[in-house]
Amino acid sequence: MSAPVRIERPASAAAAQALRAAAADVVFVAGGTALQLGWTDGAPAGLTLVDVARLSAAQGITLTPAGRPGLRIGAAVTLEALRLDERVVRLAPMLAQVCAEIGSLPVRTWGTLGGNAGWRYGDALAVLLVLQARVELADGSVRSLEDWLAAEPLPLAVAFHLDGPASPCWYEKIGQREAFAPSMLTLAQAGGRVAAVAAGLPARRLRRTEACLAGPSVDASVWVAALQADLDDDGVAGVRVPVGPADVRWRASAARRLLLGHSRPSLDDPAPPAAPST
Ligand SMILES: Cc1cc2nc3c(=O)[nH]c(=O)nc-3n(C[C@H](O)[C@H](O)[C@H](O)COP(=O)(O)OP(=O)(O)OC[C@H]3O[C@@H](n4cnc5c(N)ncnc54)[C@H](O)[C@@H]3O)c2cc1C
Repeated sequence: MSAPVRIERPASAAAAQALRAAAADVVFVAGGTALQLGWTDGAPAGLTLVDVARLSAAQGITLTPAGRPGLRIGAAVTLEALRLDERVVRLAPMLAQVCAEIGSLPVRTWGTLGGNAGWRYGDALAVLLVLQARVELADGSVRSLEDWLAAEPLPLAVAFHLDGPASPCWYEKIGQREAFAPSMLTLAQAGGRVAAVAAGLPARRLRRTEACLAGPSVDASVWVAALQADLDDDGVAGVRVPVGPADVRWRASAARRLLLGHSRPSLDDPAPPAAPST
């Protein structure tokens, strides 16, 4: 008989991190909505699930106390709670907006921000990356989201820290239909920062594209080359969406159209006429 799945409910974030570090076949679970997507034949035998949804340090949304306005969002906060929270709507409206477009109400009621990020393919990651979110770890230290995503396996995220509203910023999600479909491309921009994520494409900043945005040239071939390099999936295995044989080319072209559409006033329009002197 194969070994059953075990569930651990550690009392603290440090204990959760220690459990994961102690053995292979140990994974964190919060809502479990993304984790179970890969279990076509049920959970792998012998797996240990470390329940991080009840950790007290990972609960709640708080305003950061001093200085510029900001938020500390516990990793176990559900996507639906985030979507409805007045402070999130006010200080990070793009995060509330992306949550509204993730899955259905039951998925958002179970799914957490920590799980969305820990999955590496969550739509919220594109937004968190351009908002320059920081991740609080089990030992209380805080590091940039990009540094956290570079780790393998990912350390436990206890909370996400965000500064106040970024402007201008936008985010777009392209799917195959209105009802739930895995994202073909989720793109977000805040200031000069651009980030993308999609099914099969782990979240990342688009650094070469950001350099194009900052420079004077909007030549199509330069853009497309930068976008293709940024959106290459590096051969990372993941859920694949059949967007056609040329995923990268399709995504680069769609991303360019979105970026041009949102930047049109600054890229294409002639300079406004000088105001008449009075
Ligand atoms: C029908 C359906 C529709 C969906 N639609 C969307 C969608 O439109 N957009 C989208 O982005 N996602 C979608 N998802 C995926 C998923 O529901 C969300 O990404 C959700 O936010 C995952 O959160 P969770 O708490 O359930 O994660 P879990 O499934 O519990 O965990 C996901 C991964 O993150 C890790 N993890 C969990 N918590 C932490 C933590 N605190 N620190 C570090 N790692 C952690 C786990 O080990 C696991 O690898 C959908 C899923 C389903 C079933």
